[in-house]
Amino acid sequence: MAKVYGIDLGTTYSVIATLNENGMPEVIENYEEDSRTLASAVYFQEGGDPVVGEAAKAQAEIEPERVVQFVKREIGKPDATVRNFEGVDYDPIDISSLILKRMKEYAEVQGNDEVKDVVITCPAYFGNEERTATKQAGQIAGLNVLGIVNEPTAAALNYCCREFGENRKIMVYDLGGGTFDITLFDFCVDDDGKATIDVIDSGGNDRLGGIDWDARLYDYICEQYCNENGLSPDGITPELRAIIMRQVEGTKKLLSKKANHSINISYEGDVSRIEVSAEVFKERTQDLVEMTMDFVRQILENNSMSADDVNVVLLVGGSTRMPMIKEAVESMFPGKVRVEDPDLAVAKGAALKAAIECVERVMEKSQKSGNGGGEPTNGEGGDTGYGSDEDMPSFTQEEAEQLQKIIPQKVSTVSDKLSRSFGPAVWVEGNRFMVDNLLFVGDDSPSEATETYGTMADNQAFVKLTVYENVGKDKVNDKHVTPTYDENGDEQYTDPALKVKKLGEVTLELPPGIPKGSPIKVFFRCSAIGLEVKATNPDTNETVETVITSENTKTQEEMNEAIKHVASLKTSSDF
Ligand code: ADP
Ligand code: MG
Repeated sequence: MAKVYGIDLGTTYSVIATLNENGMPEVIENYEEDSRTLASAVYFQEGGDPVVGEAAKAQAEIEPERVVQFVKREIGKPDATVRNFEGVDYDPIDISSLILKRMKEYAEVQGNDEVKDVVITCPAYFGNEERTATKQAGQIAGLNVLGIVNEPTAAALNYCCREFGENRKIMVYDLGGGTFDITLFDFCVDDDGKATIDVIDSGGNDRLGGIDWDARLYDYICEQYCNENGLSPDGITPELRAIIMRQVEGTKKLLSKKANHSINISYEGDVSRIEVSAEVFKERTQDLVEMTMDFVRQILENNSMSADDVNVVLLVGGSTRMPMIKEAVESMFPGKVRVEDPDLAVAKGAALKAAIECVERVMEKSQKSGNGGGEPTNGEGGDTGYGSDEDMPSFTQEEAEQLQKIIPQKVSTVSDKLSRSFGPAVWVEGNRFMVDNLLFVGDDSPSEATETYGTMADNQAFVKLTVYENVGKDKVNDKHVTPTYDENGDEQYTDPALKVKKLGEVTLELPPGIPKGSPIKVFFRCSAIGLEVKATNPDTNETVETVITSENTKTQEEMNEAIKHVASLKTSSDF
């Protein structure tokens, strides 16, 4: 049977999953490394294939200049680091594509089948550019990206498909390597037994995660080392720092399982033995745990809920393996905490989402086209363009029907919420050039909106709409926000807290001789695939669509080049 896949593309570890014949999500083994996860690290060896995984991560100690890690922090962002290896430039999108390609390759060997249709996850706070960049990474790896879904939503979906049951409120507490996300969901089953999972609210801190615990442990070990050796903190040389750093993460993980651990630090011929206890580690990080709990209290308060109103709390992310996390959450939600596969749940949920998307899209298309079935829904051939057909699953209607039969339970809709507001920059009230938000943070995804604007002058030759995103969420007070460029295209001051960002432009040519105030219809749609913008002249019905590309994602030309280059490479797990 044709298959769909879900991929958790993590900052530190990535995972690929699919559905088995019974429709249950299963992680695909990274068989060469005897692991279910893949370290998100790429090593460019001289004159060989890129190495992805644990061996690459380990090589960072020996040849740091040839290893790239943590690119998820930079993907789709300005000033992303570009590295050159063997004469080829690699930006975070390219590096991510190599991680995805490695997963595709090992999954194909394991499953004896081509890996094509996927859903990839991203943090809930990613904006449009980061999502587009993630999708581009998938396309470069030779994948057909059906959508980008929020990590907590995937985790909730994985849980709900297994534990169907009755209506409930679910909280997902996700503490990863460098980020903390908290999300509240409403799980509802209707009279027909169909379920929906709605995001009620989300919050968190994209600068709080496992590395902060590492930093505290590092500080503690340094203190002990200095005491023992009569050193002042300035006595820690860069070399000594590197020696201690190398032991920190491993020690932290061991302290999740045992009460004490002792480490040996050998430096300049001397060996110091340092004892660390789980208790001291917990004391030293209590405030970090409290910071996460403040977000938990805040999200409850914002939604006028108490801990009693939450039915289940799912712990997700590698850092939730630390016992102090479970204890803290458990004390607020006694008996409601679930820790199951904290590092695999997101990929499993993504595989379920991929199946739901695939079935929905193939069925919708066959209804629209009156397709009797059996015909492929996707034009074969090397189409790498941005057409809407490109996002269609490579499934026939028959295959989609088969898939529909095995999807567990009837979770029919999984709605994410938009993480950004979107709108064009226009003249409002005739005299202020502002972003007019049409879609808002917290609206369901997918969402769409239409607005009609008027031309500014007689005989206007064209209208140019600049498309913006921002985090203004109040539909009244944040309806209009100041764009980063004024009407002349000059940069201007905008409130940094609103994260106003230009996404792209669309220019609509107008027929000659049309009077001032002629209507221009603007359509915005944001979904799992991305943002779609159209401008129409209702008189002529002429329509233009934007391709939202910006400096932080690739142009079509760059995409074609990257696709060709990455197709010529083979990734490996070792060297
Ligand atoms: P991401 O999604 O950000 O890649 P993960 O969910 O994979 O993050 O979590 C990675 C973090 O989890 C790292 O900081 C890692 O040190 C931490 N981690 C993994 N296993 C354990 C463990 N057993 N105890 C404590 N921390 C752990
Ligand atoms: Mg994660």
